[in-house]
Amino acid sequence: MDGELCRMCGGDGRVGNALGRSTATCPSCHGSGRRSDTSSLFRDVTKTKSSHYSAADATPRGPRVPVTPEGTQLAAEVSACATLPEDAKTRLFAEIINHESTHGRCTKTFLKKIRKQTRLAQ
Ligand SMILES: [Zn+2]
Repeated sequence: MDGELCRMCGGDGRVGNALGRSTATCPSCHGSGRRSDTSSLFRDVTKTKSSHYSAADATPRGPRVPVTPEGTQLAAEVSACATLPEDAKTRLFAEIINHESTHGRCTKTFLKKIRKQTRLAQ
């Protein structure tokens, strides 16, 4: 015999109800008849929690869109430019986001520089 027997059902995994008409799966051992199930259940809960936290930490994402009002407006102008090729727009979006992350905002010089490119394409 391995492990200790469940105290509630005595090891058969089933308990009779008060009227004695039927048996139900033992709520303590869930039918296994073994006491060790309780401790493994607690281990599983801990494991689930820690894997949940590590999954949350594994997905850090920086901003993929402009965050300042000027940057958002500028991105909208780039996006609205019908003649600018898609890859050029992607490059300009990346430039805006990059500029924001290094300067904390869009400088007037930078706004002019980007707007010049959208005008040239028209
Ligand atoms: Zn039991």
